[in-house]
Amino acid sequence: RAKAAGRNSVEFFDSDMQRLAQQRGQLAQDLHQAIRQQQFHLVYQPIIRQQQLAGVEALIRWHHPEQGFISPGVFIPFAEQTGLIVAIGDWVMKEACLQLVRWQQDRRLRHLNCAVNISAFQFAQDNFVEKMIQCMLETGVNPERLKLELTEGMLVNDIEGTRAKMGKLQTLGVTFSLDDFGTGYSSLSYLHKLPLSQLKIDQQFIRHIDTNVQNKAITKAIIALATSLELEVVAEGVETQAELTQLQAFGCASFQGFLFSRPLSQGAIAALSPYALAKVFA
Ligand code: C2E
Ligand code: MG
Ligand code: MG
Ligand code: MG
Repeated sequence: RAKAAGRNSVEFFDSDMQRLAQQRGQLAQDLHQAIRQQQFHLVYQPIIRQQQLAGVEALIRWHHPEQGFISPGVFIPFAEQTGLIVAIGDWVMKEACLQLVRWQQDRRLRHLNCAVNISAFQFAQDNFVEKMIQCMLETGVNPERLKLELTEGMLVNDIEGTRAKMGKLQTLGVTFSLDDFGTGYSSLSYLHKLPLSQLKIDQQFIRHIDTNVQNKAITKAIIALATSLELEVVAEGVETQAELTQLQAFGCASFQGFLFSRPLSQGAIAALSPYALAKVFA
């Protein structure tokens, strides 16, 4: 009996494996098609500094023809594993640059910075810098308006190579932000070795900082560290007034989160009233 059950469970396991492999194959195919058929679009989440709209973060959205909205938290890691992230990343960069150029032509919005998320596999490509330069030339974007968000894990493997790539782009005016700070490698020694201008505290540390003593301590320490290294520090995922008040008490002046605004369409960004974002501070 036990033997039979054992065999059954193996068969069950095999068919599960098969189904999973099939699903992954399907997702890869769907992503290929999404790239070809332009099923992606970008939304832009406001970043507030000194109580004003300082910039936005471009975030990708995928509307799957049958399954509807699929979160980037799901398909970006998958695209990373399969290499599809390179084509997706190229599209995101081009689209964000084209949007920045449109904003540059609008007197009210020409100061806006746009941050673009770069994935590890994308950054590791030998021609990453060349492709970036190509994209900036083609679109005519002002590189000073462009910020690249990198994550800790992708920087430490090859610190010299990383520094060289960042340095070339920095010379052209591009700035760099360290995203999801605190969730990756905890080695801090690379922080001052790389041309970073900004550090984003991951939202898991911001959550309930007004009451959670651990998060409070971690966030306070990160803000102090960033300040002493002369890095701008942005608190991600600020959802409540109490979180904002605590962050301000710690000396943080830049924020991103649902308290201020969800990610918006390009049209909604243009329609934003400066007062809409500042009223949170009143
Ligand atoms: P991320 O770069 O850390 O982006 C911030 C995420 O937090 C976004 O989720 C944003 O919608 C969400 N968020 C912002 N404020 C709040 C808040 O107050 N509360 C909560 N609960 N969430 C908030 P999203 O758009 O689902 O993106 C998830 C992740 O997917 C991003 O994390 C980023 O790692 C990746 N991603 C998104 N777009 C791109 C892209 O174009 N390229 C690459 N390589 N990765 C991307
Ligand atoms: Mg980001
Ligand atoms: Mg983040
Ligand atoms: Mg994140």
